[in-house]
Amino acid sequence: MNQQLVVLMGPPGSGKGTVSQMAVERLPFEHVSIGNLLKWQAAEGGELGQQIDLFVRSGKLVPDNVVIDTVRSWLLSKAPKDKDLLLDGFPRTRAQAVALTSMLQDLAGFSPCMLLFELSDEEVARRLTSRRVCSHKQCGAVYSLLDEQLAPRNDSVCDRCGAPLQIRSDDTADAVRVRLKVYHEQADALKDYYQQHGVAVARLNVLAPVEDVFDDFVAALRACSSVKVFKNS
Ligand SMILES: [Zn+2]
Repeated sequence: MNQQLVVLMGPPGSGKGTVSQMAVERLPFEHVSIGNLLKWQAAEGGELGQQIDLFVRSGKLVPDNVVIDTVRSWLLSKAPKDKDLLLDGFPRTRAQAVALTSMLQDLAGFSPCMLLFELSDEEVARRLTSRRVCSHKQCGAVYSLLDEQLAPRNDSVCDRCGAPLQIRSDDTADAVRVRLKVYHEQADALKDYYQQHGVAVARLNVLAPVEDVFDDFVAALRACSSVKVFKNS
């Protein structure tokens, strides 16, 4: 039986992480973020692990070829064989997508699809700019002014430790605009690539209540699994 490999794509604040966690808890899914894969590979050591360690230590971005080799090494040696895979943060560029396609052709047995979490820019901005984090490093509590259950009792003070709340520097309106621009460029390039190569691209409207989003998620993956083959590029 083919193993499903799901490329997750969604703007910040779209609840990708929440839905993935639900999938892992309820269904035979493994969720991996590229950040965790790089940490895993660094801990494994070897030439590749040492390279990652060097890039991370010097605060540099890990280059495409190292990211690609890490994903390949994980798929070959560590990825569970009895679960479907949710891939988060990879591929992010057309070059990475091409590399993943050729990897899957070599490995065989995977049926790929892409899942797009859709949320309007206005809603993303509304969600992110309403987020507050505790300024006390050891506490780090996160709040949302939009959600009754996640709101602090006082908009500017942490419930847990009493420290002032702040807006994360990448959640300001200007920073969010930049993040969205980058996101759309990446998402459009990947969507085009996968559509050109006959890979199913499913869209998920994430404005609904989270249980409904999860049901849609399951239905989308079921529909995806009927598409099994990558067309050669
Ligand atoms: Zn706090």
